[in-house]
Amino acid sequence: MSRIIEIDDAVTVGKLAELIDLPVTQIIGELFKSGILATVNERIDFDTASIVIGELGLDIELKKREIDKVLPDSRERKKTLGSKGDARPPVVAIMGHVDHGKTSLLDYICSSSTAKHEAGGITQHISAYKIDHGKRSITFLDTPGHEAFSAIREHAAKLTDLVVIVVAADDGVKPQTLEAIRFANQAGVKLVVAINKIDKPEADTNRVLQQLADQNILVESWGGDTVCVEVSAKTGKGVSDLLDMILLVSDVEELKAETNVPATGLIIEAHLEKGRGPVAIALVEAGNLKKGDYIVAGGTYARVRNLENTLGGAIDEAGPSTPVIITGFKEMPEFGDVFNSVKTEKEARNSAQTTAKIRQESGHSLNISSSELIRIIDRKNEVNEFNVIIKADVQGSLTSVIDSIKSLDTPLVAVKVVGSGIGSITERDEHLASTSNSVIYGFNVDVSTNIRQLAIRDGVSVRTYKIIYELIDDIKKEMTELIPPEIVKEDIGRLLVRGIFKIAKDEVICGGEVTKGKVLTGCRAKIFRGEDEIADVEVTKVQQGPQQVKEVQSGNMCGISLSTESRVEVQEDDRIEFYTLEVVKKEL
Ligand code: GDP
Repeated sequence: MSRIIEIDDAVTVGKLAELIDLPVTQIIGELFKSGILATVNERIDFDTASIVIGELGLDIELKKREIDKVLPDSRERKKTLGSKGDARPPVVAIMGHVDHGKTSLLDYICSSSTAKHEAGGITQHISAYKIDHGKRSITFLDTPGHEAFSAIREHAAKLTDLVVIVVAADDGVKPQTLEAIRFANQAGVKLVVAINKIDKPEADTNRVLQQLADQNILVESWGGDTVCVEVSAKTGKGVSDLLDMILLVSDVEELKAETNVPATGLIIEAHLEKGRGPVAIALVEAGNLKKGDYIVAGGTYARVRNLENTLGGAIDEAGPSTPVIITGFKEMPEFGDVFNSVKTEKEARNSAQTTAKIRQESGHSLNISSSELIRIIDRKNEVNEFNVIIKADVQGSLTSVIDSIKSLDTPLVAVKVVGSGIGSITERDEHLASTSNSVIYGFNVDVSTNIRQLAIRDGVSVRTYKIIYELIDDIKKEMTELIPPEIVKEDIGRLLVRGIFKIAKDEVICGGEVTKGKVLTGCRAKIFRGEDEIADVEVTKVQQGPQQVKEVQSGNMCGISLSTESRVEVQEDDRIEFYTLEVVKKEL
C-alpha cells in the first residue's frame, strides 16, 4: 500500500520535501533533471509534484486537498447536476493513439452533420462540437495530444459522459490507447471502441479485439459488454452506426440536466482575440445560458456580450451539453473553471474577487505548471527555440540583423525568425508575437502607444534598439537562458567509518577518518560496503572534536550526521564517498 499524502493545489519545494521526508536537495535535483531551476521556496503545482514523486520512484500517492468549492469533485458534480430534469445530449471524448484517426473521424462526423450547412463549415479548430444525428444531438470533445494529456485529465473527467477509443485496425492497441482506457476507467465513464481504418487491406480487426481482451475489454461478439463498431473515417463506413451506438450506450446512463436553473458549466478553452478581448469556450451543463447574462468563472466574470455556437454562428441561448463561445470576460477565465450565472453584476464581481483572493492566498497562480514540465520532459532531447519577430527601418539593416542572428544557433538552442519586415511594429506583428510566443525586436523603428498597450495586455515583449550589436547581444542573452543547465557531479573526498554513534529512522551519526579530499557540510554521501552501495544520503553536520565545522580535510578524524530516508545500518569499515552536485549554466 502506498502512503497517501495530501497537498494543496500547489506546494513549495521545501514543504514537499518535509512532507515526503526527503532532503530538499534531492527534490531540487530531480527538478533540475527536468530542466527546472527551483529554489526551496519555489511553488510547484500538484501535477508537477506528482511527476517528481513518480520520477523518484517513491511509494507515495499525492492527493489534492480540496481548497474551495470552485473546483468540485467531478463525479459529485455530474451526479448533482444530472439527477433531475430533462434528457440531455451526451458529451463524448474521442481518444486514442496518435495517427489512429481521431481527427479524421471527428472531421467526418462534423462534415456530414447538418450543423456544417447551417454555419458554413468549420473554419477554426475548436475543442468541442455539437452535431445532430437523426433527431438527436451529440457533443464531441476533441482531446489534445498526449503531451498535454496529464494536464487535462482531471478537467476532461469532469466533462465527459462517454469515451470513444479509436484504434487503427492496421496498427492495434498502442500506449496511448492504454492511456485512454485508463482514463475512462478512472473517470468512471463507459467506453465505446471504434476500430478505424477498416478500408485498409492490412486491417486486422481480430488482432485488435484480442489485444483489447488482454486489457480486460471484452466486446459483445467476444461475450463481453463493450460496444465496438468498425469504421472508416476515410470512406465513412460504419460512422452512422457508431453515432447510433453512442446514443444507445448513453441512453443507459439516463443523462439529464435541469433547464430552469441558473446556467452553469465549465470553461474548456480560453484565449485572447484581437478586437474581442478574452474569448472563452465553455460547455453548458445545466440551465440556459443567454446573451446578456452575468456569469462568474473562477476569479473573473462577464456579462455575456456575444454567445456563439462553436462554428461561430450567433445564438441567443444555449442549453445543457452545448459548447458555446463567450465574449465579455473582464479577464481570461481559466481552463477547467466552473462558470455560474448570477443575477447582478455586483454579485458576479464580488464572487470573482473572493475566488481570486482565495486562489492568490492558496498559491493557485503557479510558477511552474505541470504541462510546462511535461513539455520540458518531452523536449529534453530537442533543441530549444527562441522565437523572434524582427522589424527594421530599411532592408539593409533587416538583412544584417537576420544574418547575424542566424550564426548564433547551437545544437542546444536556436533562434527562429517567426516574422520579419520593414516599417513600424504593427498590430499584426503584436498578434503574431502573442500567438507564437515571440519577442518583437525593432531596429530603428517606432512603437505606438496603442501597440505598447496591446503588448502589455497580451504579455508580449517589444524591444527596440538603435545599435545592431546591442540587439544581437540581447538575443544572445535570451538564448543563453534557454540552454538547459547541466548538473555536474564532483567527487570531493572519502572517509572510512571507524565508529557508529547513533542509528535512527532518519539520521545516522558516525565517525571516521577522512582518507582523501574533504567532507563538506551539505554535500552528498554514498555509503559502500565492499563493492555494494548501500545508501546515498545528505551530510547535514560535520564535527571535528566537540566543534561543529564546515569542512574537514583528509588525514583528520571527524564525526558526520547523515540525513537518511529510511534506516541505514552503517557499520564500522564502511566506506563513504562524498560528492557535490552543481548546476552549471552553459554559455552560448
Ligand atoms: P489522429 O492523430 O488520431 O487525429 O489521426 P488523423 O485523423 O490525423 O489520421 C492519421 C492518418 O490516418 C491520416 O493520414 C489520415 O488520413 C489517415 N486515416 C484516418 N482514418 C483513416 C481511415 O479510416 N482509413 C484510412 N485509409 N486512412 C485513415
